[in-house]
Amino acid sequence: NTPKILVSACLLGCPARYDGQSKPVNHPLLQRWHANGWLVPYCPEQAGGLPTPRPAAEIQQDGRVMTGEGKDVTSAFLKGAEQALALCQQQKIKYALLKESSPSCGSHDIYDGQFRGRKIQGEGITAHLLKAHGIRIFSEQQIDELFTTLS
Ligand code: SF4
Repeated sequence: NTPKILVSACLLGCPARYDGQSKPVNHPLLQRWHANGWLVPYCPEQAGGLPTPRPAAEIQQDGRVMTGEGKDVTSAFLKGAEQALALCQQQKIKYALLKESSPSCGSHDIYDGQFRGRKIQGEGITAHLLKAHGIRIFSEQQIDELFTTLS
């Protein structure tokens, strides 16, 4: 049975981030899994209909996702998360490797909602929904742990 891993597209070099950049991860395991065809790249914010580049957004205390200019982008974030879940269910994906600290993909910490560069413990919208449905989430700092879990 081939394991499939949903991966934040920006970690695979796709320029999907709010600033139009990527955050490629150079890890031999990731390259091997990619070559094996195990990885399913996905960007929830693009899938939710947001443009690239786009204004930075942070999760507020009330759970809404707002840009620094005060635009409510919660519905796009939710749409991207629901499509991620649908994709995982269709393709029987049980693992996700998601970019830490993102308001969509973060699995341990996120920014505090006040656009001052400060992080707090928390989860992005997509990470939270996938985890609630039993998908195991790993950050880019946990590739070795993901390997152990797979083997
Ligand atoms: Fe990367 Fe996730 Fe941000 Fe898309 S939403 S750019 S996949 S961290």
